[in-house]
Amino acid sequence: MAGPGEFELIREYFSSRFQTGAQAGGVDSGVVLGIGDDCALLTPPRGKMLATSVDTLVADVHFPASADPYRIASRALRVNLSDLAGMNAEPLWFTLALTLPESNAAWLEPFARGLADTARLYGITLIGGDTTKGPLSITVQVTGSCDRALRRDGASAGDHIFVSNQLGAAAAALPIVLEEYEPSEVQQQQADAAFYFPEPQLELARSIGACASAGLDISDGLLADLAHICEASGLGADLKLDTFPIAELAQSMSADAALETALTGGDDYQLCFTVPAKYLDHLQGLQLPITAVGRMREARGIDCFLGGKPWQPRGTGYRHF
Ligand SMILES: [Mg+2]
Repeated sequence: MAGPGEFELIREYFSSRFQTGAQAGGVDSGVVLGIGDDCALLTPPRGKMLATSVDTLVADVHFPASADPYRIASRALRVNLSDLAGMNAEPLWFTLALTLPESNAAWLEPFARGLADTARLYGITLIGGDTTKGPLSITVQVTGSCDRALRRDGASAGDHIFVSNQLGAAAAALPIVLEEYEPSEVQQQQADAAFYFPEPQLELARSIGACASAGLDISDGLLADLAHICEASGLGADLKLDTFPIAELAQSMSADAALETALTGGDDYQLCFTVPAKYLDHLQGLQLPITAVGRMREARGIDCFLGGKPWQPRGTGYRHF
């Protein structure tokens, strides 16, 4: 059982890995005072907006409680960084609220290491946090800076719809992560990467930020998330699925199941964005890992077409476990 003294130690655990005070995050981090006082003191970048978002990951809802703590930390921070990417914001700072059943060094050491490694990779600085005793849950709040925000409400009828990289990997990874079957070594690696090390599309957001009219990160499945763009922009969409980018991990399923997984599976953290026709040549010249999947239209709703015929997915959007 962890007493309050032990939770003081946890705080020390993070303070030792993440520098406090003005040296935290380097000269441009804007951190006047980091971990250790009542509040962090921060200087926002001059002339920019701040973008902020919070996400909670609960054990046995968003990840298996028995998962490797290094990987849990990686996932917790990466899914939050993806929301910054979905807004075309540059990572600045994050806070951590950690609820733990007990103060356990064997769990905390790899967790703190996973958090520090991921933070370093994406140039984001831990500026404060809180620990409490209870069922395992991790809340991360991220803040970034933003010039030209990638909002959901900017699409126009006729805009082309794009997605980044491939979709369906995380949904196809889920039964492997839950150890429901014995995968091949390659499948195990792909599932591990998709579920615990999703790549927040920060660089891609920077590249498309100037020509995209609307966009977001795909966390609940493309159909569910595109519906958010449609709703916010007061529009509908036609999707043409003949060259849809399906992740390799999903391709061992039947063609229909693979397509459905790619369209409705959650947790991919790729970007979906819309681009006015006048920017298409410019966008194609950038040679980005993106695929055109349809057009926005006036009539509400989303219709899918495969081989020129209407195609209907059977499932909805998101599977908790
Ligand atoms: Mg999001």
